[in-house]
Amino acid sequence: MKSVRTGAVGKVEVVEIERPVPGPGDALVRIRACGICGTDVTFINMGGIPAMAANPVARAAAASPDQLVAVVLGHEPAGEVVAVGADVTGLAVGDHVVVNPQDAPSGIIGCGGEWGAMTEYLLIENAQHADRFGQLISHRIPFTDIEHAFDLTLTPGAAEKVVVTFD
Ligand SMILES: [Zn+2]
Repeated sequence: MKSVRTGAVGKVEVVEIERPVPGPGDALVRIRACGICGTDVTFINMGGIPAMAANPVARAAAASPDQLVAVVLGHEPAGEVVAVGADVTGLAVGDHVVVNPQDAPSGIIGCGGEWGAMTEYLLIENAQHADRFGQLISHRIPFTDIEHAFDLTLTPGAAEKVVVTFD
């Protein structure tokens, strides 16, 4: 599946990665929309993120804490649950969700974590913890509107952002 990450300064790369396989406590979300944030632009303009601010895997692979490593982009996602692990309750295949990117065990989604949401399928680790999801969204709301609601929820007063939809 395709995933977007920072490349050289000012550029992004679209790369092929394996579709994640959710474990018993995880869920898999098919991304349907993702905001583009000023933070994404900052990472792109920097050409990555210092290893010291990235996930443990990237830190371990870097030659020094200051070395720039690629950022897998996208931290304002909305999507549809396509798989839930056996231990996950309160979440079902078909649910429309926005994802709280902040406390993924492998690092903040799209902000130095192992996973980013500008991708086709996003692994949600420890999905049995309901606070991982900002909210479950009515199926009647278009995903683009979900994304704007998400922005306003997390960043009151924020201007509307560019939203990329995946269909
Ligand atoms: Zn943001």
